[in-house]
Amino acid sequence: MEKSDILYDAIIIGGGPAGSTAAYILSKQGFRVLLADRKTFPRPKLCAGLITRKTTGIIEDIYGENVNDLKAQGIICHQTRDWAIHSRYRELARGRLDIPFSYVNRTMYDNFFLKKAKKAGTHVIEGERVVSVDIVKTCVKTEKGRIFSGRFIIGAEGAASMTRNVLAQSSLITENSRKGLAVAVEIAIDRHPPHYFPGHPLLYFGYIPWGYAWSFPSGDKQVIGMGGLIHKNDCDIKARFYTFLNSLPYVKDPKKIQIKGHLLPYGNFLRQPGFKNILLAGDACGFADPLLGEGIYYAHKSGQLAARSIIESLKSPEQAISVYKKSLKKPVYIELEHAKRCRWLLFSFLHHFDYRPFGVSMKIITKRIEETIQGLRSFRGMKKIEVWRT
Ligand SMILES: Cc1cc2nc3c(=O)[nH]c(=O)nc-3n(C[C@H](O)[C@H](O)[C@H](O)COP(=O)(O)OP(=O)(O)OC[C@H]3O[C@@H](n4cnc5c(N)ncnc54)[C@H](O)[C@@H]3O)c2cc1C
Repeated sequence: MEKSDILYDAIIIGGGPAGSTAAYILSKQGFRVLLADRKTFPRPKLCAGLITRKTTGIIEDIYGENVNDLKAQGIICHQTRDWAIHSRYRELARGRLDIPFSYVNRTMYDNFFLKKAKKAGTHVIEGERVVSVDIVKTCVKTEKGRIFSGRFIIGAEGAASMTRNVLAQSSLITENSRKGLAVAVEIAIDRHPPHYFPGHPLLYFGYIPWGYAWSFPSGDKQVIGMGGLIHKNDCDIKARFYTFLNSLPYVKDPKKIQIKGHLLPYGNFLRQPGFKNILLAGDACGFADPLLGEGIYYAHKSGQLAARSIIESLKSPEQAISVYKKSLKKPVYIELEHAKRCRWLLFSFLHHFDYRPFGVSMKIITKRIEETIQGLRSFRGMKKIEVWRT
């Protein structure tokens, strides 16, 4: 690949929360940043859009926008305090949160953060797919044949990351995606009449091995989905999803509703998050919680840490990977590893008992579990810390 005339400091592939967060931080520091996304924004993204306290916390830290600001701008469209967890046959636990869960529409949410990156000075190319990455020359080529060079590249293209594939094919990272990749399917239906729908989020275990189903209120929509590890689910996930939908009294004619599906990292996070000056962030690096599949927080967090690592490594770009890897240890790797252990316990053992021991422990340590999911405690021994600030 020929080098382009313009040399950017950083090239970012993908304008989801991971890419736009990195672009915003670098542009604010005066870096010349190019961000390319194959879609034109605002673009749809399949997602239940539930964000926890750790996500609103990191947004406030990076962008200075608090929950009330996000609500006032219509970015947070709904909040709930009550929650419930069911097995296939019974309710296992329910509770009321001290800090509510928030819900976002990803079309608006992602556009909001991409606009912030643009305003900070990022040069954004929309509707143009990056088709190849040259690791040696640190340049990318788009489908229109344009070539852009940078001193650093951040691959933030989501779960089917091309940069990750290029690094794996060159044996520069050890790939384990087969074992930790899930597929998730989802529908969104109108909450009409509203009183007919549950007003709080519900999680359901037992409808799919090594995964779960959900039904969340989100503004005027009810978002209902199911996700599970691909290698543990030989049979058709859609068939399982229809069984689940048929059990919900408020879903009429499930077969007539269009079901959409998307890949979801579910434990396939890379221990080597890139190579030299090529970094991977968000779903591209497998950074979603392997217990609940929560990935929006980890996308912002890894985007922030990738940007900081680039800022620290300006004089020696090849060192960026070691700075980045070190910075991910406490807030990302330790959390994901411990969440993965909880997941193993839940799906390899507790399903034999219809998840009842899980329901009992949820009742005993409800507040600790709530605080862990909100990011006020670490998954490691559930020690009190604020995850997003570490
Ligand atoms: C059904 C479902 C429900 C979910 N629910 C939740 C939830 O409730 N809460 C939560 O926290 N997480 C949830 N997640 C996970 C969450 O959606 C992801 O973890 C999050 O979107 C990751 O952000 P990202 O920036 O890494 O990638 P993405 O948001 O996937 O963004 C990647 C971007 O890269 C672009 N791109 C891809 N390839 C190229 C290319 N070659 N060239 C240029 N651009 C490219 C894409 O167009 C896209 O805009 C859910 C996921 C699924 C599938």
